[in-house]
Amino acid sequence: MLNIILMGPPGAGKGTHAVWIAKDFNIPHISTGDMFREAMSSGSELGNKIKDVINAGGLVSDDLTCALVKERLSKPDCANGYLLDGFPRTIPQAEAFAKMGDELGIGANLVLNISCPDEVLISRIAGRRVCPHCGASFNVNTAKPKVEGICDECGTALIQRKDDNEASFKVRLENYYKSTAPLLDFYQEKGILATFDGNVDAASLKVELTTLLKVR
Ligand code: ADP
Ligand code: ZN
Repeated sequence: MLNIILMGPPGAGKGTHAVWIAKDFNIPHISTGDMFREAMSSGSELGNKIKDVINAGGLVSDDLTCALVKERLSKPDCANGYLLDGFPRTIPQAEAFAKMGDELGIGANLVLNISCPDEVLISRIAGRRVCPHCGASFNVNTAKPKVEGICDECGTALIQRKDDNEASFKVRLENYYKSTAPLLDFYQEKGILATFDGNVDAASLKVELTTLLKVR
């Protein structure tokens, strides 16, 4: 069973790789970032509450985030594996998640960590354009869509995320090092951490990840 947590700094490629892993291994892709963005675009109460924090690059509260994830993980499709993308992101979230995993009998058994140097992350984020409809990700310098400004997958006009600006990115990166990176030790100690170099093209990393996932 693949109960996977995908980790890495913003821009490392989590979203890109999550999409094909979920598809190829037939497990639900649970992205807290996507869930929050959906809440914001639907204008729900949750969306309005978190909008300013997210656009500034801050972290949503642990309580809100954990409640949302618990509800999602309780759905029957998660009983046969899942891919968590963007959660847990803090030590309190990791502790709450370990508890949920025990309760639901679906604890994580693999943490895929994609590492990448800061200067590469910054240039990727600056050029990133995303599809608001299907979540596909492109880059105006390195991974252009076939038609400029249009999603290859579904034909929707691409947008730049509001938090993909220099100031918000700086906050996200600081939060990553301060709050999220310490989780790597936590999962290393549990013996389930596998780290990959994210500073390669997406196709090569896909080959490496596939090799590991196929023998699991
Ligand atoms: P990235 O990894 O590129 O920074 P995500 O799409 O994973 O972006 O998340 C976007 C934003 O959503 C984060 O900057 C944060 O504000 C919020 N968010 C996502 N996941 C969490 C989480 N587990 N805890 C708190 N906030 C979160
Ligand atoms: Zn699309």
